[in-house]
Amino acid sequence: MVVLDGKALSTTIKNEIRQEVDQIIAKGDRPPHLAAVLVGNNPASEAYVGNKVRSCEQVGFSSTLVRRPESITEDELLAIVQDLNDDPEIDGFIVQLPLPDHINEEKVTLAINPKKDVDGFHPLNFGRMAQGLPAYLPATPQGVLLLLERNGIETSGQHVVIVGRSNIVGTPLGILLSRKDKMGNATVTMTHSRTRDLAAETRRADILVAAIGIPNFISADMVKEGVVVIDVGINRIADASRKSGSRLVGDVDYDAVAPKAKAITPVPGGVGPMTVTALMLNTLKARRKEIRY
Ligand code: NAD
Repeated sequence: MVVLDGKALSTTIKNEIRQEVDQIIAKGDRPPHLAAVLVGNNPASEAYVGNKVRSCEQVGFSSTLVRRPESITEDELLAIVQDLNDDPEIDGFIVQLPLPDHINEEKVTLAINPKKDVDGFHPLNFGRMAQGLPAYLPATPQGVLLLLERNGIETSGQHVVIVGRSNIVGTPLGILLSRKDKMGNATVTMTHSRTRDLAAETRRADILVAAIGIPNFISADMVKEGVVVIDVGINRIADASRKSGSRLVGDVDYDAVAPKAKAITPVPGGVGPMTVTALMLNTLKARRKEIRY
């Protein structure tokens, strides 16, 4: 069984990005610049944004964190988005989700200039991705593809079963893996909360992707021998043996499933670090103005 080490791979890829940034700077140009907008004090969002800012430092990008209280109005947030759209020094930016209930997330996402939409959440980027046109790919699915590719795991002709159909993970990943592309050409089965006999579907998977948000949901009897398991889930559960009183687990019961798997991602240290690294790659693409619309 191979542990698909996303932490190590993300360090390798970040070093590659760093080298390219050094070359940009050596030519006298400015480094890529990512901005993040953080509204309120959601601890998970704080941690994600903190990670993104730290990753920018590691790869030599400039970063700007725009922090606003929970009480910000939708119009005020839209004005910040417009300023970032107009700022020639900002290559790409993200608005960390979720936003408070009084702010319409869709409206905010639509306000982001697709050329700066390094999260790949704007419908223009999503549609272009679906059609196989150059686009910013959403970070988590892109991170999963990199993890498969750089570990030499073929997707062509493989049966991939995805559990969870969210717009940021399951659905785009299904599109990418079934596209006619190097890390595509898989036969994809998309499953979700209304799937009848889920275990019958997951047992057919050569590659199983869990993106559900329920701790340890995938059990050993739900996978076949030799499966490749990609666990996207990040769930905090109580653990009295830890100083913090809690720990992170995935959507897969790792200890039970790993012995049956050919390869498996750990949580933490699997898909999570790859997501942030994919965001760095998108920001580098934005700096290069590589994606033309
Ligand atoms: P979501 O809540 O938007 O969607 C969950 C999906 O799971 C839904 O499509 C639903 O149909 C499906 N589902 C729920 N219960 C089910 C059941 N009993 N059987 C089958 N399907 C079921 O989730 P999301 O935003 O895609 O996140 C999923 C998980 O991935 C969460 O734990 C989240 O924290 C994690 N996540 C991790 C990263 C990362 O970088 N590793 C990024 C995004 C999300």
